[in-house]
Amino acid sequence: MKAVLFRQHGGPDVLEYADFPTPEPKPGEALIRLHAAALNRMDVMVRNGWPGLKLELPHINGADGAGEIIALSGAPAERKQADEAILELGDHVVIDANLGCGKCEFCLAGKDNMCLQWHLLGETVRGTYAEYVSLPTKQLYRLPKDFDFHQAAAAALVYQTAWHSLVKLGNVQKDETVLIIGAGGGVNTASLQIAKWIGARVGPLAHP
Ligand SMILES: [Zn+2]
Repeated sequence: MKAVLFRQHGGPDVLEYADFPTPEPKPGEALIRLHAAALNRMDVMVRNGWPGLKLELPHINGADGAGEIIALSGAPAERKQADEAILELGDHVVIDANLGCGKCEFCLAGKDNMCLQWHLLGETVRGTYAEYVSLPTKQLYRLPKDFDFHQAAAAALVYQTAWHSLVKLGNVQKDETVLIIGAGGGVNTASLQIAKWIGARVGPLAHP
C-alpha cells in the first residue's frame, strides 16, 4: 500500500510518500480502506519527537480515519463494534483512536482512556496516513452510507476530548454558561458545538 511515513524525527521534510506492507487483519480485526484521515496537533508532535519516545520506525502518523471495511477476520461474535452491533464487509466506519487493551480493570469498567496499556492510534502505533489500517472492531463505529468520510474523520478525536471534559467531567447542564478559551481549534470548536447542543450559553463575554 501507499502511506505517508517517516524514518526519522524532524520537520515536514522527513515525511515520505512510500510503499509499506498492507496490514493483515488478526482475529477480531477489520481491514479498512481509508477514504479520509485528519491532521491533529499530536501528529506534528509525534513527527518532531520528544525525549523518551520510542517508535518502531518507519512510523505512520494519523489518529483519525474513516473508510470502508474490506476484510474481516474471526467469527461474527468477534466482529462487534463498540456498541455490540456486528460489523459486515462493506460497512462504512469511523475510527475510535483510543486503543484500550479491553482486559484490564479500567477497560472492563468502561474507562479505556485509563487503560494500563493504553495506546493512541498514530502516536505509539502506526496510524491512518495510509491506504489501509487494520484495527479491532471494537474501535469502529458504523456510519450511514451517505455520511461524508471527511466530516467523520475530522470529528472523531477532537469530539472525544471535548465530550469527556464537558459532559463526563464537567457535567454541563442546559442554561449554564460555558467559557471556552480558544474556540477556533479542533477540540474547542467541538466544545462549542456540544455546549450549544446541550443548551448551555456559549455567547461572547459581555463587557461591563
Ligand atoms: Zn486496558
